[in-house]
Amino acid sequence: MAKDERVAVVTGGNRGLGLGIARQLGKAGFVVVIGSRDEAAGKAAAGELAAAGLRAEAHALDVTSDESVGELAAYLESAHGGLDALENNAGIAMDGFDAEVARRTLETNFFGVVRVTDRLLPLMRAGGRVVMVSSGLGGTSGLPASLRDRLHAADLGRAELEAMMRGFVEAVAAGTHDEKGWPSSAYSVSKMGLNALTALYARELAEDPRRILVNAACPGWVRTRMGGAGAPRSVEEGADTPAWLATIGDGAGQGQVFRDRLQVGW
Ligand code: NAP
Repeated sequence: MAKDERVAVVTGGNRGLGLGIARQLGKAGFVVVIGSRDEAAGKAAAGELAAAGLRAEAHALDVTSDESVGELAAYLESAHGGLDALENNAGIAMDGFDAEVARRTLETNFFGVVRVTDRLLPLMRAGGRVVMVSSGLGGTSGLPASLRDRLHAADLGRAELEAMMRGFVEAVAAGTHDEKGWPSSAYSVSKMGLNALTALYARELAEDPRRILVNAACPGWVRTRMGGAGAPRSVEEGADTPAWLATIGDGAGQGQVFRDRLQVGW
């Protein structure tokens, strides 16, 4: 690693918000590693940033695969000796709602983040920043108190949160998610879980001497393939808060959700 080099990983950085976040982090001086399922798309995105004078690389990454995440970790260790920022941006919003949609959505948007973060946190250097790209749809105000209170509980543990997310998928398969109080949106539930996960990682890292901060960003409704052409925000606007969270100082936020650089409830 070159002296003073700071390395940021952006999952799903080949297009949309991920590419916007990668561009802003490149401008902030990071060497950006674009994680992309499609290697050619990742290389093209990195090439686009390099053409603008930014330092960017691409590496294959499927957040649903232990092997793929392990290969990225090995690359970061050998090429850069670790990393300084992780943007958990990769996500899906599928059409329809059934057990398979619920399973795949949670596997990418929630368990994919767990897989990547758990694997890369040991490689993170002091002062590192983890950012979850969440959504306003991850708000819990429509949930019954029994679910909402647990998601927000200060004693919510890893096993309980993962069991809640698996329980949602099982309830969708059994046709009981509605009576259990869950909405008929796998995407919303995945982002509720992601917000709770953000607070949970912050608690888990409380005694870590590296002073790593973990926060989530709600980018607003953004014109990407997911957001559609009619969304009010540009990629640049949507990428601002997630990119900024990778650069905040100690004490600026821990385990919280931000929108437009301001802490918000969820
Ligand atoms: P997008 O244009 O559809 O991009 C999604 C990105 O995630 C793509 O790079 C995609 O890769 C990648 N991805 C999906 N599954 C993956 C996997 N298993 N492994 C690795 N990468 C994977 O959507 P976007 O709008 O930029 O969304 C980015 C994030 O912002 C998501 O987490 C989304 O939930 C969140 N968000 C978006 C909006 C909005 O209005 N757009 C609002 C709130 C939150 P491929 O190119 O290979 O498909």
